[in-house]
Amino acid sequence: MIEEIRNHARNLLENKELDVIIGYGEGSDPTRTTPVFIRKPEEVDRLIFDPRCINSLPIYLNKRKAYPKKGWKRTGIIGKGCDIRAITQLIAENQLSRDEVYIFGVPCQGVVSHFSKWDGGLNDDNRATKCAKCDVQVPYECDFFPGEQQKIDRSGPYEVSAPQVLNLLNLKTDKRFDFWQQEFDRCFKCYACREVCPHCSCNICITDRTTPTWIDQAPHLKGVFGWHITRALHLVGRCTGCGECTRACPVDIQVDLFNQRMKDIVQNSFGYKSGYSETEKPPLITYMTEDKENFIK
Ligand code: SF4
Ligand code: SF4
Ligand code: SF4
Repeated sequence: MIEEIRNHARNLLENKELDVIIGYGEGSDPTRTTPVFIRKPEEVDRLIFDPRCINSLPIYLNKRKAYPKKGWKRTGIIGKGCDIRAITQLIAENQLSRDEVYIFGVPCQGVVSHFSKWDGGLNDDNRATKCAKCDVQVPYECDFFPGEQQKIDRSGPYEVSAPQVLNLLNLKTDKRFDFWQQEFDRCFKCYACREVCPHCSCNICITDRTTPTWIDQAPHLKGVFGWHITRALHLVGRCTGCGECTRACPVDIQVDLFNQRMKDIVQNSFGYKSGYSETEKPPLITYMTEDKENFIK
Protein backbone atom coordinates (compact mmCIF):
# COMPACT_ATOMS: atom_id res chain seq x y z
CA MET A 1 0.00 0.00 0.00
CA ILE A 2 2.63 2.52 1.04
CA GLU A 3 4.60 1.91 -2.18
CA GLU A 4 1.54 2.87 -4.23
CA ILE A 5 1.15 6.05 -2.18
CA ARG A 6 4.84 6.91 -2.49
CA ASN A 7 4.82 6.41 -6.28
CA HIS A 8 1.74 8.55 -6.72
CA ALA A 9 3.11 11.21 -4.36
CA ARG A 10 6.39 11.27 -6.29
CA ASN A 11 4.54 11.84 -9.59
CA LEU A 12 2.47 14.69 -8.19
CA LEU A 13 5.52 16.44 -6.73
CA GLU A 14 7.54 15.94 -9.93
CA ASN A 15 4.69 17.41 -11.98
CA LYS A 16 4.39 20.29 -9.50
CA GLU A 17 0.72 19.47 -8.89
CA LEU A 18 1.35 19.63 -5.12
CA ASP A 19 3.63 21.94 -3.13
CA VAL A 20 3.92 19.71 -0.10
CA ILE A 21 2.62 16.38 1.20
CA ILE A 22 1.92 16.05 4.90
CA GLY A 23 2.27 12.48 6.10
CA TYR A 24 3.89 10.21 8.67
CA GLY A 25 7.57 9.32 9.01
CA GLU A 26 9.65 7.37 11.51
CA GLY A 27 9.99 9.10 14.87
CA SER A 28 12.74 9.56 17.37
CA ASP A 29 12.55 5.94 18.59
CA PRO A 30 11.02 2.75 17.14
CA THR A 31 7.72 3.18 19.01
CA ARG A 32 7.05 6.59 17.48
CA THR A 33 6.05 8.18 14.22
CA THR A 34 6.14 11.87 13.51
CA PRO A 35 4.42 14.21 11.04
CA VAL A 36 6.64 14.90 8.00
CA PHE A 37 6.40 17.57 5.33
CA ILE A 38 7.55 16.17 2.00
CA ARG A 39 8.43 18.83 -0.56
CA LYS A 40 10.77 17.05 -2.97
CA PRO A 41 10.12 13.88 -5.03
CA GLU A 42 13.30 12.27 -3.64
CA GLU A 43 11.89 12.55 -0.08
CA VAL A 44 8.75 10.45 -0.61
CA ASP A 45 10.40 7.25 0.67
CA ARG A 46 10.18 8.81 4.15
CA LEU A 47 6.39 8.26 4.05
CA ILE A 48 5.15 5.34 6.15
CA PHE A 49 1.79 4.14 7.48
CA ASP A 50 1.04 1.69 10.31
CA PRO A 51 -0.89 1.64 13.65
CA ARG A 52 1.65 4.01 15.23
CA CYS A 53 0.32 6.81 12.98
CA ILE A 54 -1.82 8.32 15.71
CA ASN A 55 -1.46 12.03 15.04
CA SER A 56 -4.37 13.73 13.38
CA LEU A 57 -2.66 15.60 10.54
CA PRO A 58 -5.57 17.94 9.59
CA ILE A 59 -4.38 20.22 12.39
CA TYR A 60 -1.81 21.37 9.84
CA LEU A 61 -4.63 22.50 7.53
CA ASN A 62 -6.08 24.76 10.20
CA LYS A 63 -5.16 28.29 9.16
CA ARG A 64 -5.31 29.65 12.69
CA LYS A 65 -2.30 27.45 13.31
CA ALA A 66 -0.56 29.12 10.33
CA TYR A 67 -0.76 26.26 7.84
CA PRO A 68 -0.62 25.90 4.93
CA LYS A 69 2.42 28.14 4.61
CA LYS A 70 2.33 31.18 2.38
CA GLY A 71 2.89 30.18 -1.22
CA TRP A 72 1.60 26.61 -0.77
CA LYS A 73 -1.32 26.49 -3.14
CA ARG A 74 -2.16 22.82 -2.92
CA THR A 75 -1.30 20.55 -0.04
CA GLY A 76 -1.37 16.76 -0.15
CA ILE A 77 -2.22 14.95 3.04
CA ILE A 78 -2.25 11.32 4.15
CA GLY A 79 -5.65 10.75 5.73
CA LYS A 80 -7.09 7.96 7.84
CA GLY A 81 -10.89 7.93 7.64
CA CYS A 82 -11.24 9.83 10.93
CA ASP A 83 -8.76 12.47 9.70
CA ILE A 84 -10.78 12.85 6.51
CA ARG A 85 -13.80 13.55 8.75
CA ALA A 86 -11.83 16.46 10.22
CA ILE A 87 -10.87 17.74 6.74
CA THR A 88 -14.49 17.45 5.59
CA GLN A 89 -15.62 19.46 8.61
CA LEU A 90 -13.03 22.19 7.94
CA ILE A 91 -14.40 22.43 4.38
CA ALA A 92 -18.02 22.51 5.61
CA GLU A 93 -17.12 25.43 7.91
CA ASN A 94 -15.32 27.33 5.10
CA GLN A 95 -12.00 27.02 6.92
CA LEU A 96 -10.51 25.27 3.91
CA SER A 97 -11.42 25.02 0.28
CA ARG A 98 -11.66 21.57 -1.30
CA ASP A 99 -9.29 22.49 -4.12
CA GLU A 100 -6.52 23.51 -1.67
CA VAL A 101 -6.15 19.94 -0.48
CA TYR A 102 -5.39 16.59 -2.13
CA ILE A 103 -6.28 13.63 0.06
CA PHE A 104 -4.41 10.34 -0.03
CA GLY A 105 -6.87 8.01 1.74
CA VAL A 106 -5.40 5.08 3.64
CA PRO A 107 -7.25 1.94 4.75
CA CYS A 108 -6.86 1.67 8.51
CA GLN A 109 -7.50 -1.10 11.03
CA GLY A 110 -6.92 1.18 14.01
CA VAL A 111 -4.15 3.03 15.80
CA VAL A 112 -2.62 2.72 19.24
CA SER A 113 -4.04 5.03 21.87
CA HIS A 114 -0.60 6.25 22.87
CA PHE A 115 2.94 5.68 21.60
CA SER A 116 3.98 4.29 25.00
CA LYS A 117 1.52 1.42 24.49
CA TRP A 118 3.03 0.21 21.22
CA ASP A 119 4.54 -3.25 21.61
CA GLY A 120 4.79 -4.16 17.95
CA GLY A 121 1.12 -5.09 17.43
CA LEU A 122 -2.39 -3.74 17.78
CA ASN A 123 -4.62 -5.39 20.38
CA ASP A 124 -7.65 -4.67 22.58
CA ASP A 125 -5.44 -3.19 25.30
CA ASN A 126 -3.64 -0.64 23.18
CA ARG A 127 -6.19 0.24 20.43
CA ALA A 128 -7.57 3.80 20.64
CA THR A 129 -11.18 3.87 21.88
CA LYS A 130 -12.29 5.81 18.77
CA CYS A 131 -11.40 2.77 16.64
CA ALA A 132 -13.82 0.38 18.40
CA LYS A 133 -16.86 1.18 16.24
CA CYS A 134 -15.21 2.96 13.36
CA ASP A 135 -17.22 3.17 10.12
CA VAL A 136 -14.48 4.94 8.17
CA GLN A 137 -11.75 2.32 8.15
CA VAL A 138 -12.14 2.57 4.39
CA PRO A 139 -12.05 6.31 3.67
CA TYR A 140 -15.08 7.77 1.93
CA GLU A 141 -13.84 11.03 0.43
CA CYS A 142 -10.37 11.04 -1.04
CA ASP A 143 -8.55 11.88 -4.26
CA PHE A 144 -6.35 8.80 -4.25
CA PHE A 145 -6.86 5.41 -2.68
CA PRO A 146 -4.37 2.55 -2.90
CA GLY A 147 -6.20 -0.48 -4.25
CA GLU A 148 -9.91 -0.93 -4.79
CA GLN A 149 -12.22 1.21 -2.70
CA GLN A 150 -15.34 -0.54 -1.41
CA LYS A 151 -18.68 1.21 -1.03
CA ILE A 152 -19.74 1.15 2.60
CA ASP A 153 -23.12 2.11 4.03
CA ARG A 154 -22.50 4.96 6.47
CA SER A 155 -26.11 5.96 6.98
CA GLY A 156 -26.18 4.57 10.53
CA PRO A 157 -25.21 6.45 13.68
CA TYR A 158 -21.69 7.74 14.03
CA GLU A 159 -20.34 5.96 17.07
CA VAL A 160 -17.14 7.06 18.75
CA SER A 161 -18.38 7.33 22.33
CA ALA A 162 -15.98 5.57 24.64
CA PRO A 163 -17.44 3.20 27.27
CA GLN A 164 -16.41 5.84 29.83
CA VAL A 165 -19.12 8.17 28.46
CA LEU A 166 -21.78 5.55 29.02
CA ASN A 167 -20.42 4.75 32.50
CA LEU A 168 -20.59 8.44 33.40
CA LEU A 169 -24.16 8.73 32.16
CA ASN A 170 -25.13 5.91 34.51
CA LEU A 171 -23.90 7.88 37.53
CA LYS A 172 -26.18 10.14 39.58
CA THR A 173 -25.62 13.83 38.84
CA ASP A 174 -23.71 14.52 42.08
CA LYS A 175 -21.35 11.59 41.46
CA ARG A 176 -20.80 12.73 37.89
CA PHE A 177 -19.99 16.20 39.19
CA ASP A 178 -17.52 14.64 41.65
CA PHE A 179 -15.84 12.86 38.75
CA TRP A 180 -15.33 16.08 36.81
CA GLN A 181 -14.26 17.96 39.88
CA GLN A 182 -11.50 15.41 40.45
CA GLU A 183 -10.49 15.47 36.79
CA PHE A 184 -10.43 19.26 36.49
CA ASP A 185 -8.53 19.63 39.72
CA ARG A 186 -5.48 18.53 37.70
CA CYS A 187 -6.00 20.99 34.82
CA PHE A 188 -3.46 23.80 34.86
CA LYS A 189 -4.72 25.46 31.67
CA CYS A 190 -1.82 24.73 29.36
CA TYR A 191 -4.31 24.75 26.45
CA ALA A 192 -2.66 21.78 24.71
CA CYS A 193 -6.19 20.41 24.17
CA ARG A 194 -7.07 23.54 22.23
CA GLU A 195 -3.86 23.76 20.26
CA VAL A 196 -4.12 20.20 18.98
CA CYS A 197 -7.79 20.41 17.99
CA PRO A 198 -8.39 20.81 14.24
CA HIS A 199 -11.67 22.63 14.94
CA CYS A 200 -10.51 25.24 17.48
CA SER A 201 -10.32 27.87 14.77
CA CYS A 202 -10.84 31.27 16.41
CA ASN A 203 -8.14 33.87 15.81
CA ILE A 204 -8.39 34.84 19.46
CA CYS A 205 -9.79 32.17 21.75
CA ILE A 206 -12.49 33.39 24.13
CA THR A 207 -10.35 32.32 27.09
CA ASP A 208 -7.57 34.68 25.96
CA ARG A 209 -9.86 37.70 25.64
CA THR A 210 -9.47 40.20 28.44
CA THR A 211 -11.65 43.13 27.32
CA PRO A 212 -13.94 41.98 28.75
CA THR A 213 -12.72 38.82 30.44
CA TRP A 214 -15.29 36.19 29.54
CA ILE A 215 -13.67 33.27 31.35
CA ASP A 216 -11.74 33.47 34.59
CA GLN A 217 -8.19 32.77 33.43
CA ALA A 218 -6.90 31.40 36.72
CA PRO A 219 -6.42 27.63 36.80
CA HIS A 220 -8.64 27.15 39.84
CA LEU A 221 -11.73 24.98 39.66
CA LYS A 222 -14.12 27.77 38.69
CA GLY A 223 -11.85 28.98 35.89
CA VAL A 224 -11.22 25.44 34.69
CA PHE A 225 -14.92 24.51 34.61
CA GLY A 226 -15.64 27.75 32.74
CA TRP A 227 -12.96 26.93 30.19
CA HIS A 228 -13.99 23.35 29.53
CA ILE A 229 -17.72 23.93 29.40
CA THR A 230 -17.24 26.86 27.02
CA ARG A 231 -14.90 24.86 24.81
CA ALA A 232 -17.30 21.91 24.71
CA LEU A 233 -20.15 24.22 23.69
CA HIS A 234 -18.03 25.85 20.98
CA LEU A 235 -17.39 22.41 19.52
CA VAL A 236 -20.97 21.19 19.54
CA GLY A 237 -21.70 19.55 16.19
CA ARG A 238 -18.14 20.32 15.06
CA CYS A 239 -15.94 17.87 16.96
CA THR A 240 -15.09 14.94 14.69
CA GLY A 241 -13.92 12.61 17.44
CA CYS A 242 -10.20 12.44 16.71
CA GLY A 243 -9.40 12.14 20.43
CA GLU A 244 -6.33 14.34 20.10
CA CYS A 245 -7.35 16.66 22.95
CA THR A 246 -7.27 13.76 25.40
CA ARG A 247 -4.04 12.37 23.98
CA ALA A 248 -2.32 15.77 24.24
CA CYS A 249 -3.33 16.44 27.84
CA PRO A 250 -0.20 16.17 29.99
CA VAL A 251 -2.23 15.23 33.08
CA ASP A 252 -4.45 12.62 31.39
CA ILE A 253 -7.79 14.39 31.62
CA GLN A 254 -10.29 12.75 29.25
CA VAL A 255 -11.32 16.03 27.74
CA ASP A 256 -13.04 14.47 24.74
CA LEU A 257 -15.66 12.68 26.86
CA PHE A 258 -17.56 15.97 26.92
CA ASN A 259 -17.36 16.31 23.16
CA GLN A 260 -18.39 12.73 22.55
CA ARG A 261 -21.53 13.25 24.61
CA MET A 262 -22.28 16.47 22.72
CA LYS A 263 -21.82 14.60 19.44
CA ASP A 264 -24.45 12.05 20.50
CA ILE A 265 -26.91 14.78 21.53
CA VAL A 266 -26.52 16.64 18.22
CA GLN A 267 -26.88 13.43 16.25
CA ASN A 268 -30.02 12.42 18.12
CA SER A 269 -31.58 15.90 18.11
CA PHE A 270 -30.75 17.09 14.60
CA GLY A 271 -29.68 13.95 12.73
CA TYR A 272 -26.38 15.69 12.04
CA LYS A 273 -23.07 13.82 11.89
CA SER A 274 -20.03 16.08 11.91
CA GLY A 275 -17.42 15.38 9.28
CA TYR A 276 -19.60 13.47 6.80
CA SER A 277 -20.60 16.26 4.42
CA GLU A 278 -18.62 19.10 2.87
CA THR A 279 -21.78 21.13 2.28
CA GLU A 280 -24.05 20.49 5.28
CA LYS A 281 -23.45 23.07 8.05
CA PRO A 282 -23.40 22.20 11.77
CA PRO A 283 -26.90 22.91 13.17
CA LEU A 284 -25.72 25.25 15.91
CA ILE A 285 -23.93 27.62 13.54
CA THR A 286 -26.81 27.96 11.11
CA TYR A 287 -30.06 29.84 11.31
CA MET A 288 -33.28 28.98 9.56
CA THR A 289 -36.53 30.83 9.85
CA GLU A 290 -38.31 27.57 10.58
CA ASP A 291 -36.09 26.88 13.60
CA LYS A 292 -38.25 25.82 16.53
CA GLU A 293 -36.65 28.05 19.17
CA ASN A 294 -39.08 30.92 19.51
CA PHE A 295 -36.67 33.01 21.55
CA ILE A 296 -34.48 33.77 18.52
CA LYS A 297 -37.34 34.99 16.31
S1 SF4 B 1 -11.09 5.80 14.05
FE1 SF4 B 1 -11.10 4.45 12.24
S2 SF4 B 1 -9.92 5.50 10.69
FE2 SF4 B 1 -9.46 6.49 12.65
S3 SF4 B 1 -7.64 5.47 13.39
FE3 SF4 B 1 -9.37 4.36 14.26
S4 SF4 B 1 -9.86 2.71 12.80
FE4 SF4 B 1 -8.49 4.17 11.77
S1 SF4 C 1 -4.50 19.88 27.94
FE1 SF4 C 1 -5.19 19.11 29.95
S2 SF4 C 1 -4.16 20.42 31.47
FE2 SF4 C 1 -3.99 21.45 29.48
S3 SF4 C 1 -5.77 22.86 29.42
FE3 SF4 C 1 -6.40 20.96 28.41
S4 SF4 C 1 -7.34 19.72 30.03
FE4 SF4 C 1 -6.16 21.35 31.06
S1 SF4 D 1 -12.56 18.35 20.60
FE1 SF4 D 1 -10.95 16.77 20.82
S2 SF4 D 1 -11.82 14.95 19.83
FE2 SF4 D 1 -13.01 16.72 19.12
S3 SF4 D 1 -12.04 17.35 17.20
FE3 SF4 D 1 -11.13 18.59 18.86
S4 SF4 D 1 -9.28 17.46 19.46
FE4 SF4 D 1 -10.57 16.04 18.27
